[in-house]
Amino acid sequence: MRAGDSTFIIVGGGIAGLCAAIGLAKLGIEAHVYESASELKGIGAGFGLAANAMQALEYLGLKDEIIPIGHYLASYNILDQKGNILAEPDTKSISRKYQQDNFAIHRADLHQFLLSKIPNTQIHLGKRAVSFERVGEDIHVYFADGSHAHGQALLIADGVHSPLRQQLIPGSTPRYSGYTCWRATIDNSSIQLEKGTETWGTKGRFGMTPLVDNRIYWYACINTEAQNPVLKTWKTKELLDNFSDYHTPIPTILSETKDSELIANDIIDIAPLRQLAFDNIVLLGDAGHATTPNLGQGACQAIEDIAVLMDELQTAASITLAFQRFEKRRLERVNYICNTSWRIGKIAQWENPFLIGMRNFCMKIMPNRMKQQRLNNLLSVDFMQINRNHDPRN
Ligand SMILES: Cc1cc2nc3c(=O)[nH]c(=O)nc-3n(C[C@H](O)[C@H](O)[C@H](O)COP(=O)(O)OP(=O)(O)OC[C@H]3O[C@@H](n4cnc5c(N)ncnc54)[C@H](O)[C@@H]3O)c2cc1C
Repeated sequence: MRAGDSTFIIVGGGIAGLCAAIGLAKLGIEAHVYESASELKGIGAGFGLAANAMQALEYLGLKDEIIPIGHYLASYNILDQKGNILAEPDTKSISRKYQQDNFAIHRADLHQFLLSKIPNTQIHLGKRAVSFERVGEDIHVYFADGSHAHGQALLIADGVHSPLRQQLIPGSTPRYSGYTCWRATIDNSSIQLEKGTETWGTKGRFGMTPLVDNRIYWYACINTEAQNPVLKTWKTKELLDNFSDYHTPIPTILSETKDSELIANDIIDIAPLRQLAFDNIVLLGDAGHATTPNLGQGACQAIEDIAVLMDELQTAASITLAFQRFEKRRLERVNYICNTSWRIGKIAQWENPFLIGMRNFCMKIMPNRMKQQRLNNLLSVDFMQINRNHDPRN
């Protein structure tokens, strides 16, 4: 594709949309981001940037500036309710192989950084896309405020609820995982948490990790029906009651969290899709493959998407071809992650003490080689090489 030939419309100014705008600018392609929020401040708490995401960020030329705003994660162990180690994934061997480390980062910090790389004139806030239409070879996108934009390509990056995806693929509505989640970022001065861990217990899961600037990001997942009206009223007191017999510092973290710091939402994803590319329209990030957070890979996959898309746009003869090749390189991987994460979530959320005892016993006696297999499938894969050998007819 020749730079300067086209204008790309990006719907959604999340991690996928902003990384896409940065990548396209590097290729000399004009792109405009249309975001529904009136202010972009990266709502949410922290998340993990695993080695694969760091590799993608390096490809996009962003890694070196992101490392200082991330917290290096030497390990991320799975614990039982008493704090005993159930699994101790060896991320170091993968880091050595690819020369990439794992980090935890605050969403707002990452957003702020990505935004600083994009000219204001290319970001349009308060633009909630409601539909699109093909007009000749162009795509027109219509917004809730009555305005519209048009371009030669449309990158749909407006997250799991994407109305544009649902226009393309009717019925691709989010599905509820069976558990709801609370998250917060709090001060680490008195707790001095040093390691990232996730605890699997009878009353739910609790994850915590340190962040830069002496902060902690934590999350808690509890099984319940979707939109449970009682759990919607839960504040830190109820969470503390629920997790009171979990190992330290979980009760302390909860007691140090202010109600106003809590973010609560049901965990949803979308069932794996069969298609990501539709001529000159492509689905990116959560809009195309929202996954449950059990592998900590949602944002990582969004960033991988952009690295692969830029790789294809650099070499393909047309936008349509680049999007087709993108789909070919991405679909199997993102669907594997979505399915695996869904299954892990079910097992991690078991509440039956007998099943939990069996699970924990198996996890403890399982040879390290087997425990490591899943992590290897996830991280020890050079995603930039997947299906790089294109069909010669293309
Ligand atoms: C509890 C939890 C923990 C997680 N932990 C991790 C983790 O450890 N590691 C990891 O990699 N990922 C994690 N994730 C997943 C990660 O947050 C998402 O995968 C990632 O944010 C997806 O980015 P995105 O840009 O595709 O979508 P989003 O972040 O959802 O961004 C979409 C953007 O589009 C905007 N928008 C929405 N609708 C419209 C519209 N109609 N028109 C215009 N704009 C619109 C939104 O305002 C938003 O700015 C976690 C998610 C959850 C819920």
